[in-house]
Amino acid sequence: SPPSPRPSELQLHDVFIAVKTTQAFHHSRLELLLNTWVSRTREQTFIFTDSPDEGLQERLGSHLVVTNCSAEHSHPALSCKMAAEFDAFLASGLRWFCHVDDDNYLNPRALLKLLKTFPQTRDVYVGRPSLNRPIHASEPQPHNRTKLVQFWFATGGAGFCINRKLALKMAPWASGSHFMDTSALIRLPDDCTVGYIVECKLGGHLQSCPLFHSHLETLQLLEAAQLPEQVTLSYGVFEGKLNVIKLHGPFSPEEDPSRFHSLHCLLYPDTPWCPQLVA
Ligand code: UDP
Ligand code: MN
Repeated sequence: SPPSPRPSELQLHDVFIAVKTTQAFHHSRLELLLNTWVSRTREQTFIFTDSPDEGLQERLGSHLVVTNCSAEHSHPALSCKMAAEFDAFLASGLRWFCHVDDDNYLNPRALLKLLKTFPQTRDVYVGRPSLNRPIHASEPQPHNRTKLVQFWFATGGAGFCINRKLALKMAPWASGSHFMDTSALIRLPDDCTVGYIVECKLGGHLQSCPLFHSHLETLQLLEAAQLPEQVTLSYGVFEGKLNVIKLHGPFSPEEDPSRFHSLHCLLYPDTPWCPQLVA
């Protein structure tokens, strides 16, 4: 008999990358991403926002998704965007769904290397646990009862990925209007809701991965030599001080407070705006 077709080796074009943003950050955050890592993942990356933006629309075309979600930092507004991301992934037919926030740097090479380590036969939900223990939630039951449930979840601010096999099983709780219903039921944010669906509804598990990073950790602790291996990085302000990765140049902290421009030049030295090394 003819050899059975083997699934081809995973490539970046098999990955759907969703970036969550909001009108207030179109300029202050998104610009930085478009000029850095998104410039290397254009075909795969979709930006989910809440308000039309002519300039962005012109640059991104169908890769800018203007949802009907409200521009608030409320659980329903954020869950609405996660639902839009999830549905767009399902419709894309791609093999992996990866979510990041608009203050994340995603390293496509490190991402691909990580995703290639998972066998296709498994359900995969991979990211950084937000807490060092499972979170608790009350699941409403018939007759005004509640059931206490606990589960692990990947912190949305560090990014996470789910493979299609698992995403298809999640659809009854995560597709269309179901995601917002599920989120409202347990009264927790979007990233917790993903963990709840995977662990409590499907009996799956978060695969913890230290290569995802949010600004909730002390980013300076990462060694410069380790930076190219990290799947995601971030930046933010903590107790009035910038919480950023430690990287010497090529740009100064004044020119490049997030350090993302400098990181991008480390990873992609052939970028036209990076200082070119002269032989
Ligand atoms: N965000 C949003 N709507 C808002 C506020 C924030 O969609 O009203 C998005 C924002 O663009 C980012 C994520 O939610 O992708 C997390 O926001 P932020 O980094 O400001 O807050 P954090 O939770 O990290 O402190
Ligand atoms: Mn953030």
